[in-house]
Amino acid sequence: IQKIGVLTSGGDAPGMNAAIRAVVRTAIFHDIQVIGIRKGYNGLINGEIKEMYSKDVSNVMNLGGTILHTARCPEMMTEEGLNKAAAIYKILSLDALVVIGGDGSYRGMGELAKLGVNCIGIPATIDLDMNSTEYTIGFDTAVNTGMDALNKLRDTSSSHERCSVVEVMGRDAGYIAVWCGMVGGAEDVMFPEAKNIIDSQKVIQQILANRSVGKRHNLIVVAEGVGGTQKLAKDIQDITGIQTRATILGHLQRGGSPTAVDRMHASMMGYHAVKAIMEGKQNQVVSYNRGRYEVIDLGESFEIKKTLDQDMYNVIKILAI
Ligand code: ATP
Repeated sequence: IQKIGVLTSGGDAPGMNAAIRAVVRTAIFHDIQVIGIRKGYNGLINGEIKEMYSKDVSNVMNLGGTILHTARCPEMMTEEGLNKAAAIYKILSLDALVVIGGDGSYRGMGELAKLGVNCIGIPATIDLDMNSTEYTIGFDTAVNTGMDALNKLRDTSSSHERCSVVEVMGRDAGYIAVWCGMVGGAEDVMFPEAKNIIDSQKVIQQILANRSVGKRHNLIVVAEGVGGTQKLAKDIQDITGIQTRATILGHLQRGGSPTAVDRMHASMMGYHAVKAIMEGKQNQVVSYNRGRYEVIDLGESFEIKKTLDQDMYNVIKILAI
């Protein structure tokens, strides 16, 4: 193995820089040349590349975002775009392409693999919505940002005896919402996986019940995948008479200096990605499952299914009495 490429793709996630650093330094440590590819698959198709040296990843572990920049790349959905990407990979004489990104980025890897590109994936998305791994880089930082926001909203909604409805990110998944709800001590959480269990009617009933037992404020977490946050806040206020404010955290949760947990996983996963390449493995993804790092065949990773542990929601409700 002489030369590998690395790129970050899809939505950015805190910890991506720590993963890039780990890939670059593990490779250089083993005398492997590293080519940094800018703006995800776009940079591969357009040849936006730059050799990376150890000093290029100095002082980046603590930074959110990604120093290689990231983007969505619609051209990857076309045969022409895919062929171009594979051709550049060959022209650059790369032995492997390390892709740091989410599910969509993995699907892109699946297509490139068919054209002879040796793809190695590192899971990175704040949403935790990847089936092949129990942890995705960026999740812990996003949850901590959500928890900080909930702490602050708790102060003010408590002083004013208001209700706060907080929308957190997560795309179609409820992992961030359920975690934020638990660690922020929310009274209730609405998340896509539980659409049939918890709806706005039930939330309003809960708020009325809380008032009857003397609770003076309520924190309600809503997942992005459920949405309707402004309307829910208005409905709560109209029906209960309790002043209610909506806060949508949005992209705030995508930024920030990565937590220790994200730096640890990113560093270990970056190392394991290069190790897999050095062992001659082809088309693999790095995962963290049952407390261990492992590499899984890319094709097999598409077959794995993961579900949110709904018992966490039951615990939130027990602890919110
Ligand atoms: P996040 O979950 O954080 O948004 P992601 O990796 O899932 O990250 P996407 O925008 O879904 O983000 O995918 C990133 C890129 O991967 C797309 O812009 C596209 O270039 C490529 N990609 C996604 N799906 C496919 C596919 N089916 N075939 C080829 N390329 C794809």
